[in-house]
Parts: sequence; C-alpha cells; structure tokens
Amino acid sequence: MRLVVLGGGESGTGAALLAKQQGIDVFVSDAGIIQADYKNLLITNQIAFEEGGHTVEKIQSADEVIKSPGIPYEATIIKQLHHIPIIDEIEFAARYAKGRIIAVTGSNGKSTTAQLIYHLLHAADFHVALAGNIGYSFAKCLTQSIYDYYVLELSSFQLEGIKNFKPNIACLLNITLDHLDRYHDSIEAYAKAKLNLLRNMTPLDHFIYHKADPITTQYLPTQKILPQLHPIVSSPICSKNGLFRFNGHSYAFSMSREQIALLGRHNQYNAMVAATAAALAGVSSKIIATALPKFRGLPHRLEWCGAPQGIDCYNDSKSTNIASTTAALLSFNQPIIWIAGGIDKGNNYSPLLPIVQERVKAIICLGKENSPIMKAFHPLSLPIEETDNLSVAIDRAVAIALPGEVILLSPACASFDLFKNFEDRGNQFKEKVSARAMASTL
Ligand code: ADP
Repeated sequence: MRLVVLGGGESGTGAALLAKQQGIDVFVSDAGIIQADYKNLLITNQIAFEEGGHTVEKIQSADEVIKSPGIPYEATIIKQLHHIPIIDEIEFAARYAKGRIIAVTGSNGKSTTAQLIYHLLHAADFHVALAGNIGYSFAKCLTQSIYDYYVLELSSFQLEGIKNFKPNIACLLNITLDHLDRYHDSIEAYAKAKLNLLRNMTPLDHFIYHKADPITTQYLPTQKILPQLHPIVSSPICSKNGLFRFNGHSYAFSMSREQIALLGRHNQYNAMVAATAAALAGVSSKIIATALPKFRGLPHRLEWCGAPQGIDCYNDSKSTNIASTTAALLSFNQPIIWIAGGIDKGNNYSPLLPIVQERVKAIICLGKENSPIMKAFHPLSLPIEETDNLSVAIDRAVAIALPGEVILLSPACASFDLFKNFEDRGNQFKEKVSARAMASTL
C-alpha cells in the first residue's frame, strides 16, 4: 500500500504521521513551501516529501491519495489522478478512531460550539479530544493518544468528499452565504457539502440543527436516511425567570440566560446546541449546569478587551462574513461605533443596512480598499470615515464614542490586506485598546 498526501499543512502532515505510525508507505507532496515546523515533523519521522511543486509520476504511483482540504477537487493535480481513489484527511483518520465522534459544522459558530462541547464533556471527566479545524488535525490527534470521544470542528471543505466517515452526533449550526467562491456561487453545492455530514448516519445517530435555518431545512429532506433529529429553536420559549428548557427522549434540562457567560443571542443558540450534544453524549444536566457558566468563549469572538474612557471595546476580528457581523451588532443595546472592512469576499451588505441604521452611531472603515463598504452604507444618515491604519481607526472611534457606548471591531471581511490573519488583526486591536485604557487611568 502506497499513500500520497497532497498538502503539507496541519491536515496533510497529520495524515502522513498517522500513516507512518500504521506502517504505511507514505509520501507528501506540496505545491508550495511547507512551513518549517511541519517540515521538521516530516524529517524527524522519516517521511519522504517534496515541496514547491508536484511530481505527477510520483503521485500517480499511489494506491490512494489523501487530499488536504485547501485543495479543491477542480485543481489540476486532482484531475490528473482520475484512476486513483482520493480521500480527505478526516476520512482517512476515521478509519483508525475507536471512540465516538461529535462533529460540528456550519457557516459560523463552529469553533465556539466545538470548544464548548469539549468543555462540557471534559467537565464530566470524559476522556475527550478536540480536533479538526481547531488545534490539531483529527489524524494528528489520533497519533498522540486514544480517546473515548472526539469533538471535531469540520469545515465544508473537509466534508465535501466524505465516503464512509460517520459521526455519532452531528451539529449543523447554520448555512449562510460564505465561501461561495469555492462553490462557483452555488449555495446548493455549499449546502450539499455541509449536509454530506449526514451521508452515513443512521437512525441510531443524532443530528442537532437550527429549526429555522432556511437552507438547512430546504436541503434536509433530500437525505434518504435520517438520524434522530434534534431541531433547536434559537428564540426559545422563556418562562418568567428566563429559563430555557430542553426535553429530549433521553435528556431534559433547563438553563437560565445568566448561565451563559457569552454575549448575544447567537451564543445562547450555540450553548443550546452544545448542551444538547453533551446531554446526548451522556453528560448529566447537573454537570452541564455547573460547567456552562464557566465557559468564557474564545479570543477574537466578541471578546471584551478594555474600556478606555469608559467606552467598552470588543474584538470580533474572527467575523469575516455578514452573518457573524449581524450577530455581533445585535448583541448590544448601547450605541455602537463600528470598525469594519478589509478584504471584501463579494459581500452583499444590504441585509445589514436596517441593523446598522438602528444600532450604529458611526462607521469607521478599515482597509486598503474601502469603496465597496463606503458605497454600501453611504445612503444611511450616519457619519462614515475611512482609514488604512488601525491606530487611527481606534483614535477616531474613541473620539466619537461617549462613556457607556461600545466600540466594536467586527470587520465582516478577511484581514489579509493589512494584517497577517484575523488573530494578528485582533491582537493588534487588543494591544492598542489596552494601551489607551491604561493611559486613560493615569
Ligand atoms: P467558525 O469556527 O464557524 O468561524 P467561531 O466560533 O470562530 O465560528 O465564530 C466566528 C464568528 O462568528 C465570530 O465573529 C462569532 O462572534 C460569530 N458567531 C459565533 N456563533 C455564531 C452563530 N451561531 N451565528 C452567527 N455568528 C456566530
């Protein structure tokens, strides 16, 4: 058996390490340059590799090819391999996983929800790992230890080629317009990639999803065999004391708004999905109730980062699409000075107009090319400014805001024009806000 792995990133290196551990002859081929830490791992584990281009003959000699999620099926190298089975890293890794799998996908909220499920299972002393699109790849995780539960964050790119992969519990948070560039603007292709998660699930398995998500509910009936369905209502019926109640076949629990430390309706929904997944996995309602309030969320997702001059500042740098910025803007009742912009992935800003008109006091566009966003919000009767400098953006926001108001960095755009990535954008924002907060207390 000879295996070739295409791509030497987190997924590809993980797959190669797992293959090597299983005694499989494996070769890694990357069209670009492999990051130094991954290269070291390959060298230390005596795994042959090439970088800076694919040698087609070497790849064509494989019995099976593992494709990294960043490589689309239309890539030239994939088209040259029509006679060889091509699988994804997730598919390969799952062959060697003995534990139960809880998979989380969706356009927004995957990391938060996957991390929260992990937190709840961990609180119950389950032997659980968190992997996939967060932290280690699934394959690399399997090389480290054996777990009873794997909580996997999965993107649509990791799901589109699934053949036999089967989670025991699957969560599909939402499907909104994102990554359509990879799906030739076809929402149907994107939705089908997400719903591919259900492909091998049986009535013994569980599917948690948003009851009112129009795209999920449109495509769900196209599945021939369905697992047990757990639709979540995102505006749950609240009793007077603000309790959410859940009743399932095998679980029943309730929680109050105060038990969720995270901001916003969307996070209440994420928490309901996570609690349902944990309950289905066997975590008691008592443990869920004690562990839930201790979850403080992840950096760069509506993260409070200081209050210079009494103005609360939030870093939502991970927001790179309209749906996540909508969720952020809806999370505050105070007037918002909104810092937005970056690389626009062809955003349609029109659904945001009424929300921005209602909640935003001023817009500061932060990007190299601000004209699409400036043009979209120009019709509103709001102050709108632009800059390509983060410090200037923060200074202007602080000058406009009054104590008690909110400065929100929620770009709805990618970060690569001015920053290395969303973490870099968020970290720089946090540092600059902290410096101003320190200065304002002197
Ligand atoms: P993902 O892993 O899917 O990118 P994250 O948990 O990292 O999701 O959050 C990404 C962005 O989406 C953040 O701005 C966050 O505030 C926002 N977000 C989180 N959950 C939801 C949700 N259920 N609906 C809409 N936006 C959300």
